[in-house]
Amino acid sequence: MTMNDIDAPEIFQPDAEGNGDAPARAAAGSAVNAPQRRAALRERLAAAAIAALLVTDLRNVRYLTGFTGTAGRLLVTADGHGDVFATDGRYATQAAEQVADLPRAITRADDWLPDALAGRDRLGLESHVVPWAVAEQLRALLTDVEVVPAAGHVEALRAVKDAGELAAIGRACAVADAAFAVLLADLRPGWTERHAARHLERAMEDRGADARAFETIVASGPNGARPHHRPTDRRLRRGELVTIDFGARLDGYHSDCTRVLSLGEPDGDARALFELALAAQQAGLDAVADGAATADVDAACRDLISAAGRGEEFTHGTGHGIGLDVHEDPRLAADAAGTLRAAMVVTVEPGVYVPGLGGARVEDTVAVTGAGSDILTATPKPLAVL
Ligand code: ZN
Ligand code: ZN
Repeated sequence: MTMNDIDAPEIFQPDAEGNGDAPARAAAGSAVNAPQRRAALRERLAAAAIAALLVTDLRNVRYLTGFTGTAGRLLVTADGHGDVFATDGRYATQAAEQVADLPRAITRADDWLPDALAGRDRLGLESHVVPWAVAEQLRALLTDVEVVPAAGHVEALRAVKDAGELAAIGRACAVADAAFAVLLADLRPGWTERHAARHLERAMEDRGADARAFETIVASGPNGARPHHRPTDRRLRRGELVTIDFGARLDGYHSDCTRVLSLGEPDGDARALFELALAAQQAGLDAVADGAATADVDAACRDLISAAGRGEEFTHGTGHGIGLDVHEDPRLAADAAGTLRAAMVVTVEPGVYVPGLGGARVEDTVAVTGAGSDILTATPKPLAVL
């Protein structure tokens, strides 16, 4: 990491061949549809009377440009004239390749902004991610511009995936499935939770994952009562449920899957807990379809668990959107107001957690379709008794 880009901004104009309908090929799985995505964002900005949006969330920048670096921001104008991508000198070459279709300011500073805004009077900031101090600096810099909060515009677009994104998430799911099969074949009594987690993560990377999507959860026996348990040195024992929540990241996109296994047949109470989570998850999957209210998917899972007298023991929401982030829009929860649309990708992951006894959760990553859903995580769901 270097800190050498304090020189005055120099805006590089787009390459002739990188303009308009022939954007330069971005990194695999990233924003080949970036111009269309920016066009969709302009419509939202115009409807919200925001003349321009300064996009600073790096996932949003990637979605709108294809840029995969760790420092970059993007000005998108409602009228479609004067978009600028800015990054620092470390990324000048990468930006020239990945963002060839936009003017580029190579600088850490924001001094290119007044000229780029060119008299536009209202600038939106991604208020859910912009630090207060940065907002204050921009207000001081842009004295003739009203700086307003503008959260969630790009996230709303990201919720509905295009074909390339669906394929990328599918590849991440397939890698995770293949790795889980390796874990099932290799797992032995006496392994610790931590060892099982690392074995699964290594198998994902060996099969093409860029990284794990998140810290793998391996929760055995009583630890299963903690939905976000971090793997410990506890050894896996016969007859206990082991809840494993895992995902892969590939080409920037994520998978998310939870399965439960047991070394030898679990005792009756534990088996019943698993079967309840499994039935609730199927009820949730059955409720997923284009046009379904996200709260109704949650209710389908929750009602079944409540009917079994364990409603208080399902202590989290039913699922979340997934894509460039592991957790993104929409949310599937009792208090979520959204509606599922075709080509959204969400998880369905009810669980039951009983302190002292343990817990179980079953989770798939699914793509919403007109009639229902395509389940992208293919690992079999019945309790794996090893
Ligand atoms: Zn998960
Ligand atoms: Zn999840």
